[in-house]
Amino acid sequence: MLLHCAHARYVWNLAVEQHTHWKPGRRSAPGFAEQCRQLTEARRENEWLAAGNADVQQQALKDFAKAKNARFTSGFGEPTWRTKYVHEGFRVIGTDRVPEYGPDGSPKLNAKTGKQVMGRSVVVQKLNRRWARVKVPGCGWVRFRPSAKGKGAKLPAAKTFRVTYRNGQWHAAFAVIPEETPAPGTGEVVGIDRGVTITAALSDGRKLNCPQLTVKERAQIRKHERRAARASKGSEQKTAEYAKVARLKAREANRRKDWCEKTSTMLASSFDLIRFEKLNIQNMTRSAKGTVEQPGKNVRQKSGLNRSILAQGWGLLRQRTEHKAPGRVEDVPAPYTSLRCSACGWIEKKSRKSQADFVCVSCGFTCNADENAATNVAAGQGGIPRPRRSAGAGGVTTATGRSNAREPQPTWVGIPLF
Ligand SMILES: [Zn+2]
Repeated sequence: MLLHCAHARYVWNLAVEQHTHWKPGRRSAPGFAEQCRQLTEARRENEWLAAGNADVQQQALKDFAKAKNARFTSGFGEPTWRTKYVHEGFRVIGTDRVPEYGPDGSPKLNAKTGKQVMGRSVVVQKLNRRWARVKVPGCGWVRFRPSAKGKGAKLPAAKTFRVTYRNGQWHAAFAVIPEETPAPGTGEVVGIDRGVTITAALSDGRKLNCPQLTVKERAQIRKHERRAARASKGSEQKTAEYAKVARLKAREANRRKDWCEKTSTMLASSFDLIRFEKLNIQNMTRSAKGTVEQPGKNVRQKSGLNRSILAQGWGLLRQRTEHKAPGRVEDVPAPYTSLRCSACGWIEKKSRKSQADFVCVSCGFTCNADENAATNVAAGQGGIPRPRRSAGAGGVTTATGRSNAREPQPTWVGIPLF
């Protein structure tokens, strides 16, 4: 499989080279069909390439063509170089021929011949509760552990899958369009307040926390980083120590992803409408360093916050929930959700006694601060009127371009909102 990775990377990088060295006035860079022809030629001349699997190499070209076509919309831009050890992977196309059906369930017919279109399907077999196997060309059956476990978990019916290798672990990702999670139909609305101390506080009082590395694991990371730093340059030990660090860090990312998957499924299956407070994560995590002339404030604090924000995977949770419950996820503007009393609507900075406690100065309502904020989010946009600038002016401030959460100005504090 490592050889497959090497071939796919080689072919991909050749394609990148063809497209980056193309200049106006020259013949246009070869497209997919032309590249396939060139690949056949290259396989005839290059023994190393010929020893590999033709399908794997051709799929690398197809991936490149797809990436090239989507360069304006994918968010990844122009396809770039693939590096050894970093971008290891290859795509496998299914070997089973299966009849294709349209979205309405009717057989897909070829416009010219009138025969049913035959598509490809990956051969996946379930071995037992934990293990399944898939056929990889040139390697035979390869065992893997499906990520969807438990009762009713189905094996993927995919046309292709992608095998990747990173940090000493192999992964197979099957390209399937997942089914939506059905709404419970109870009309229940939930508000979610994302924070640093509690990853996600729900308006029903539940507090969900994203698992992080344990103190012991963090100490291990530091230990291996220290050893790597002391190892001599270019030594085998240095590489080995850095590999250990990478594996531990990958463990954290895996836990975060797993938590986001489970939590988003839970949210999508138990609530009809899910409201998130609108965060501008990009702004919140932006570097606070500033420039030499204008050094930023609280650089250390902010970089610490940056790390914890990214570690919590806020963005991923919102994104995965939207995937599983399309049209049932809403964003509620964030200002004042943490300062407003969810019982009487009074906004006052003093109501927030500490990180955890909320005691309304107006009505005496007592609640956990995160739960209070989540209840405000659940009330939605209509539930949180924007505060007036001053009692005399009577004007309602309009939403400005700056949508990041800010504490209200002193003139607003303590003015009832109706
Ligand atoms: Zn109150």
